[in-house]
Amino acid sequence: MAEFQQVFQSMHLASRTGPDATYSERIDRLGRLEKLLSDNVEALCKAISSDFKWRSDTETKLLEILPLLRGIRHAKRHLARWMKEERRKIDLAFQPSRAWVRYEALGVVGIIAPWNYPLALAIAPLTDALAAGNRVMVKPSEQTPSFSDLLAKLISENFAADEVSVVLGDVSIAQDFARLPFDHLLFTGSTEVGRSIMRAASDNLTPVTLELGGKSPAIVCEDFSIDAAARSVSFGKFINAGQTCIAPDYALVPRHSVDQFVDAVMNHVAQAYPNPASNRDYTSIISERHLMRLRNAVQEAEAAGARVVQYAGETPDRVMLYPKLVVDPPRDGLLMQEEIFGPVLSVVPYDTVDEAIAFVNSKPRPLALYLFTDSGEMQSKIIGNCKSGGVTVNGTLLHYAMENLPFGGIGPSGMGAYHGRDGFRRFSHARAVHKVGRINMFEKLGPPWGPLLRLTLR
Ligand code: NAD
Repeated sequence: MAEFQQVFQSMHLASRTGPDATYSERIDRLGRLEKLLSDNVEALCKAISSDFKWRSDTETKLLEILPLLRGIRHAKRHLARWMKEERRKIDLAFQPSRAWVRYEALGVVGIIAPWNYPLALAIAPLTDALAAGNRVMVKPSEQTPSFSDLLAKLISENFAADEVSVVLGDVSIAQDFARLPFDHLLFTGSTEVGRSIMRAASDNLTPVTLELGGKSPAIVCEDFSIDAAARSVSFGKFINAGQTCIAPDYALVPRHSVDQFVDAVMNHVAQAYPNPASNRDYTSIISERHLMRLRNAVQEAEAAGARVVQYAGETPDRVMLYPKLVVDPPRDGLLMQEEIFGPVLSVVPYDTVDEAIAFVNSKPRPLALYLFTDSGEMQSKIIGNCKSGGVTVNGTLLHYAMENLPFGGIGPSGMGAYHGRDGFRRFSHARAVHKVGRINMFEKLGPPWGPLLRLTLR
């Protein structure tokens, strides 16, 4: 048996033989997690930057560490309320009696994290799973080895092996990990791998939360400032060089505003990332394979007649890909068929909003939807007619940062959601308890069934 399988066994045994973690044990675990993060900010930033070949500390702090610290503090602040038993109403027919729901720990939770926000996507679900009183095993991505090693070291220094444990290894280890009979398995990654995770979990009837990818659209409406929409889309798209699951994948723009939108995006890019050759605010592409994938997709669209607008300062740097816009890419090409997951924004012209809505609905349901409008009517129309995991109106990415909103996908972009109280509940068992009163009418009624009951049921 591999070491991580033994760790699982010991966690499993502990979860079956001992009581759930108390409120103060959970607060203590969350406190240790918070301290682990705040004491190691520089080391974490350095490890992640080395895995990416370059990512600025500011991005790691803003996009990973800060939201995590907020999430942990939010959980600590609200945990007592979340853990409270909930009284439920009793129907007249069952009175007198009492009913309530207890939110209990599930047991052992597995978390599989991707490389793009390696810290946030390991620690955010860990926070919720610990708040819910579970023991947790985390498998970070093999594509972020420096970070994963550091995480394993920090966790082992701050948590007992049967509280939280990090499992290192390649895809074959990840496959074995997914086959463990967890009480819940949360996977963040691609839709394709999500399918095999669900297959593996089904053998053990392990419930899964799948946080997957997809093509998140941004719809810019006629009434909204093109410049403001372009600024927001640029921010959401080019941060972390577009390697963000909820980055706008393509922008639907009124046909007559396309040129203005393209110019505005390029202006914002030039302001955000001047001097590309020496720019330290712009993140690298994680690997040569992904760089080639992105370059191929752009070349294919260009060969098919799409207009490619690229940042003037493009350098031949190995793993850097500066922002590119592809106007009106072929609908059957890679750019419109696959998740872009890089700094390439497709701009799709539309003539009517109904056409834009139909376009979004012709694709699998996305993880996020962005719309830019000041009209309440238009907002209701678009939100009401296009389903997605979450929505930000007049901005990008920010619904993710709301601790009071559930974060998750729908259909091929995922199932189940977490963050804040929704995360606490995701990793809890809502256990129904009914305490019958002294007068139990049902048992008094029989059997043998009396004539009065027969009459009532007639
Ligand atoms: P990936 O699916 O290739 O890998 C994710 C994790 O799964 C890694 O830790 C990897 O080791 C593991 N893995 C790979 N194959 C496996 C298998 N057969 N069985 C078990 N585990 C396996 O994804 P990635 O390239 O690391 O991340 C990019 C994808 O993740 C994109 O599609 C992106 O949209 C998505 N993503 C989604 C969210 C979200 O919250 N919904 C967040 C970030 C990334």
